Amino acid sequence: MKALSLEAPLQWRRLDIPAPAMPGPGEALVRVDTVGICGTDLSGYLGKMPFFSYPRIPGHELGVEVVAVGSGVTQVAPGDRCAVEPYINCQQCYACRRGHTNCCEKHQTLGVHCDGGLRPQFLVPARKLHISRQLSYEQLALVETLAIGCHAVNRSGLQAHESCLIIGAGPIGLATLEFVKLTGAKTIVLDMHPGRLEFCRRVMGVTQTLQPSSQLEQELRDLTDGHLPDVVIDATGNNQSMSNAFGLITHAGRLVFVGITTDIVQFKHPQFHRPEGTLLCSRNALSADFTRIIRLIEEGRLDTGPWITHRTRFDELIEVFPLFTRPETGVIKAVVEVGA
Ligand SMILES: [Zn+2]
Ligand SMILES: [Zn+2]
Repeated sequence: MKALSLEAPLQWRRLDIPAPAMPGPGEALVRVDTVGICGTDLSGYLGKMPFFSYPRIPGHELGVEVVAVGSGVTQVAPGDRCAVEPYINCQQCYACRRGHTNCCEKHQTLGVHCDGGLRPQFLVPARKLHISRQLSYEQLALVETLAIGCHAVNRSGLQAHESCLIIGAGPIGLATLEFVKLTGAKTIVLDMHPGRLEFCRRVMGVTQTLQPSSQLEQELRDLTDGHLPDVVIDATGNNQSMSNAFGLITHAGRLVFVGITTDIVQFKHPQFHRPEGTLLCSRNALSADFTRIIRLIEEGRLDTGPWITHRTRFDELIEVFPLFTRPETGVIKAVVEVGA
C-alpha cells in the first residue's frame, strides 16, 4: 500500500506500507478519499510546526468511507461517508473527564503527532467518525478546518449585538469568519494582504476590511460607534500581531488566540487590565462542533463553494506541494484525491 511521508522538513518520501489489520473493538477501517492540506501541513513541511514530529504521514482533514468495523461499533457501518475528528484523546485524563476532549493531556492529532491520512486505508476509533449521507468527500474533508473556526468563536462567547475583529484572513481566519457571520455580530477583517481582503469582500460578504496602519485604533473606533471591538480573534500565529491585539479590545472585551506562535507574546499590563480584558486560547475543536458543521452544510447555511481552490492527485502531491507554501498562488484550500 502506497503512502506519503515527511521524513524530515522539506523531505517527502514515497513509502510502501503493509495493509492495516482488521479493526479491533471500537475501531473502524476507513478508505481515504479526500485529504485537505492546511497550514499545519505546510508548517510541518517547512519545519516550523512545534508539535510536528518526523517521520510522519501527514493528513488530518479527511473525507473517508467506512470499509469495516470492529466489535461494539454501532454508530457507523461499511459504506458510510464520514468526516474524521482527528483529535485522538485518552478519555481518562482530568481534561477528558471534564469534557475538554480537544485539549486532552495526552492529545494526539492524526497526521501531526501520529500518522494521518496520506495513505489509502487506516484504522481509527469509530467514535471519531462523523457521518453524512449528503456531503461529498471534499465537503467532509473541509469539516475539520471549519471546526477550528467554530471552536474559536464559541470560546469568544460572541453575541449578535456585539462587534468582532478577525485578524488574519488565511484559512483559519476564514473558517472563523464563517461562524462570526452566523452569530449576526458586526464583522471586521484585518489583514496585510489586499488580495485576501478583496476575497473577504467579494466572496465572503464582509463589508468592513482594514489593513494595518498607525491609525488602526481610530479606524476601529470609527467602525464600532467609538468603542473598540467586543471580541478580537487573532488567527495570524504572528507574535507581533498577537502582542498588538491586547490594545484592540473594548472594555470588558475578549481576545482569542486561535493561531499559534513559538515566539514570545507580550503586552503592557495596564493596557489590558484597565478594560478588564479576558484572554482565551482556542485549541482544536469538540465532537459537537463536527456534528453542528455537518448539519449547517447539509442545511445550506454554510457554503463550502468558495473554499477549495486547488485539487491534486495523490501521485503528483510531492511535486506540487511546494507551490502551496506560496500565498501568491492564491491557494485557500488544496485537496488531495487519494481515490479508490
Ligand atoms: Zn487543518
Ligand atoms: Zn485525555
